[in-house]
Parts: sequence; C-alpha cells; structure tokens
Amino acid sequence: MESNTFDLIIIGGGPAGFTSAVYAGRAGLKILIIEKETPGGKVSKTYEIENYPPFINIKGIDLSSKMFQQSLQYNNAFIGENVLNIKKLGKWMVVKTNKNVYKSYAIVIATGTKERKLHVDGEEKYFSKGVSTCAVCDGALFKNQIIAVVGGGWSATEEALYLTRFVKKLYLIHRRQKFRTPDTILDKVKKNDKIELILDTVVEKISGNNEFVTDISLKNIKTSEKTKLKVAAIFPYIGQIPNTAFAKGLEILNKDGFVIINNRETFETNVSGIFAAGDVLVKNLRQIANAVGDGANAGQGAVAYIDKIK
Ligand code: NAP
Repeated sequence: MESNTFDLIIIGGGPAGFTSAVYAGRAGLKILIIEKETPGGKVSKTYEIENYPPFINIKGIDLSSKMFQQSLQYNNAFIGENVLNIKKLGKWMVVKTNKNVYKSYAIVIATGTKERKLHVDGEEKYFSKGVSTCAVCDGALFKNQIIAVVGGGWSATEEALYLTRFVKKLYLIHRRQKFRTPDTILDKVKKNDKIELILDTVVEKISGNNEFVTDISLKNIKTSEKTKLKVAAIFPYIGQIPNTAFAKGLEILNKDGFVIINNRETFETNVSGIFAAGDVLVKNLRQIANAVGDGANAGQGAVAYIDKIK
C-alpha cells in the first residue's frame, strides 16, 4: 500500500473518531485519523466530566488523552491537517487536506461541532481579548473580575458554574425565561451567589478599549430597555454548528449541515463507504457516552464494508 493510501480515514479526533479507530484498528485495518485541532476535541476543553461511566468525575483533558493514546494502538496514524473536501472515485475515497491528498476505501466523519457565534459588533475584534468560548482555557485569566456568559443550554450553565471558581461575579444572560439545561444544573446556578441571571435579554454589542473587552450592550426583548454592563469578558455558549464544510458536495447533510445516516446499525450515509458518528450527526442528545457508541457502530460498519469491497 502506498504511503498516502489507507483502508480507512477517520476525520475528527474526538471520542467518536477515536472509538471508530479502536474498533477498526482491532480488525487490522490501516487507519489514518485526521484532526485539525487538539486531539480530543471538545472533551479536551471541558474541565470536568461527571456523566461518562464509569468515571464519577474525570478531568476532560485526562479522559481525552487516554482516548487518544488508546486510538493510536494497532496500525493507526494521526495527522494534524484540515480536510478541504472528499471525492468518491470508483471504489476509492479521495481526501484533500490543506497539505496533502490521501486515499482510502472508506471514511468515518466524526468532526463534531463548533460554538455558534453571536454575530454582534465587537465579537470578532475582541475574540481572545475577553471574548472566549473556552472557559477551561481562559477562565483563570479573569480572577476576581466581573464577566458574562450567554445562553440557556447545558453548555452555558455548566461553564458558568465552572467560571464562578475564578470570578467575583458572573452575569448569565439568556434570551428567554426557560432554560434547556437539566434542573439539577439549573438549581446549582440559582443557588450560586456569584451568578446573577439576566433573562429575556440579548447582547447587542461588545465594546472595549481596543485591547480588551470593557463592557457589553444589552437589550431586554420584552421591554426594549437597553442597558450597558461593565465586564472584563464574555463567554457565548449559544449552541453548536457542525464542522462539515468539507462535506457540502456530498448530499449527506441536512439543511443545518448535520450528517444524516441511513442505517442505525452501520452508521453509513447515503454515499456507500462514508460513515459518520458523534455530535456531527442529526440527533437530540450530544454526549460523550453516545458518541462512543456511534463510533463503535461506524468503525464496525466500515470494517464490514471494506471486507466486502477490498
Ligand atoms: P443548546 O442546547 O442548543 O443551547 C443553546 C442556547 O443558546 C439556548 O438556550 C438558546 O436559546 C441560546 N441561543 C441560541 N442562539 C442564540 C443567540 N443568537 N443569542 C442568544 N442566545 C442564543 O446548545 P449547548 O448548550 O451548546 O448544547 C448542545 C448539545 O450538547 C446539547 O445536546 C446538550 O445536551 C449537549 N451538551 C451536553 C453536556 C453534558 O452532558 N455535560 C454539556 C454541554 C452540552 P433558546 O433556548 O431560546 O433557544
């Protein structure tokens, strides 16, 4: 086999991709895992995980590095490149990255999601200068300061709780009254003295002194009242966008860009030989536990497919 040719290419190095690599690797396939960012994906940027059995509590970075190490056993290679597109030519998949072109019999797409942006004035200008979507990476920079978190989902509430270990005060800004997060987490948020809820409210602008964020402009969507808050940082956690730009030409995506699979056993898409797993799929619950399950199915699905066509 040529050096750029593999049995299976797994795009995305998070729990789903790593689990596919373990299952397909144990079957003896030659595998390339391609990941454009840190191995481990979102897990590596999560402080603590309390809902991935059997760990009652494990640091995200510890879990992701264990998963990464395990995925590199067998005959598996890992490379840090950005996939630009995939083409199917006969029985071959051709994967073009920002640096190389690779070939394989099958592909598992496990690229997960990235944080949705607010798309307000100042967000781009002050990104990494007070605007952040990584509490674990940046939270400690705001010791004893006043900050804001935006969103009403699981991410916003969990990350807000995490950030209270550093900051003096935290505004949790949500655009309506009802939260999407489980009640157990919402209770902790409501009981936390450092958190002040600002509801029915959206962020209209992020301002600063050209170096760092200094304040944010808010609007109450029920009363139209506008206010300004002095904050040193703002963490928007307002949902997820799938990392699937490279798959646009393949007709395997729904209108929001999530991957549709047509077989719940093999996790194969409409394009035979292309499998998908994890948060990138159309689904309601995006968890490490089910990403791992998807990855096992997709890995096994790819093994059976390759056995058939090779
Ligand atoms: P999410 O559940 O989609 O919540 C996004 C939140 O942002 C919603 O409250 C939404 O408001 C708000 N929002 C969306 N667009 C907005 C905008 N332009 N301006 C202001 N607010 C906006 O996203 P998520 O919290 O990132 O969770 C994504 C998935 O990951 C979910 O399946 C979740 O269960 C999972 N997750 C699990 C864990 C865990 O198990 N520990 C942790 C994190 C995430 P509305 O409510 O009004 O729509």
